[in-house]
Amino acid sequence: MGLFDKKFCDICGSKIGLLGNKKLEDGNMCKDCQKLLSPWFSDRRHSTVEEIKQQLAYREANKAKVEAFIVTRTLGNGYKLLLDEGKRQFIVSRFSDWRSTNPDVLDYAQLTGCTTKITEDKDEITTKDAEGKEVSFMPPRYRYTYDFKAVLTVSNPYFDEMRFETASFLREETPGDASLTGHGDAFNDAKADLLAIQAWANELLGTQTETEIEDTMPEAIPLTAEDAADKTLFIFPALPKTAAELLALPRVSFQDPFSIAAAAVAALCRFPEDADACFAMLDAIKGPQPLSNLDKSFIRNRFFDGKDYVPRSYFAGAMPSNDYTPDQPYRIRVSESVHSRDQFDQGYITLYLKSGGADSERPVVLRNKPSTGEWFLWNHVGILADIRVPKKDDPWA
Ligand SMILES: [Zn+2]
Repeated sequence: MGLFDKKFCDICGSKIGLLGNKKLEDGNMCKDCQKLLSPWFSDRRHSTVEEIKQQLAYREANKAKVEAFIVTRTLGNGYKLLLDEGKRQFIVSRFSDWRSTNPDVLDYAQLTGCTTKITEDKDEITTKDAEGKEVSFMPPRYRYTYDFKAVLTVSNPYFDEMRFETASFLREETPGDASLTGHGDAFNDAKADLLAIQAWANELLGTQTETEIEDTMPEAIPLTAEDAADKTLFIFPALPKTAAELLALPRVSFQDPFSIAAAAVAALCRFPEDADACFAMLDAIKGPQPLSNLDKSFIRNRFFDGKDYVPRSYFAGAMPSNDYTPDQPYRIRVSESVHSRDQFDQGYITLYLKSGGADSERPVVLRNKPSTGEWFLWNHVGILADIRVPKKDDPWA
């Protein structure tokens, strides 16, 4: 046999063009015959001519099933799971004109397993500073990539797995409010579809497989209209670990001195785990005047006696009796007194925080930078004042 020997398709007999040959275990197949195979089939090289001929007969018979298929339910947005609940049959296809593509019609009884998974990836969106260096937005912005995947295992002579993506999309975060708005409507719709696919399979198979969810964004916090309108209340889904996360907390903004006071508490909560991260967070909200060495040693001294609980005592629910364990999500109220604005003309405001371990409110001073209108943390010493010891540390309890 020479290099230029003409090849013929062992299925349909037609001449195979240059580069058009699809090798079989014991023969050759043309492109046109390959197109007629199931899209879920992948084992061509190990198939014999006879097996391919059988599959093509099965595919031909499938056309009548496609014709008779009545869609009573559609789940998914990219690839879709189509159900004919009357005949108890299903199709998976990504085409809107799926009937013209002869998609495999399977009986419910052919389903042997199902797993579903939602994956979220988070990337920071950066910008360039004056020198062209890549820097974070303040607050940082993120782009989320979502994938919604299902794997159906089936009992069929030509394929045993149908892997498909029911949705996939990008979402860019709106600065500042991401944690309160949650994943957004597109996510919720796609999630509902994928959960419905899992539920459909679970019911057929008598299994209780759960959709695996790998996400990095905290669940949306349902806000009452009253809480949303309350400008002195701050609700944090989780405590921040970095300066970037601190500035990304819901409603934290340098235009709002109340929010910077709340952020100061969140930053100080970081000290027991990571003092340097705590200082970096405080510097981020101190703006033009970062912490001095004296400030840092003061903070270290305040925490020295195991008083880790002081900053978290400002969150709702934290009390001496529960070792100052805040309710979830973290809620903190920042209030104003009649004297709060005594030095307002000089650019200062004194706001107050209520600890679950003290009767008097603790002051925090914020300072305004008139050229930008921003408020920065000026004096945080009041936040670390002594409070009642937690019950577990109280010898008189
Ligand atoms: Zn052919």
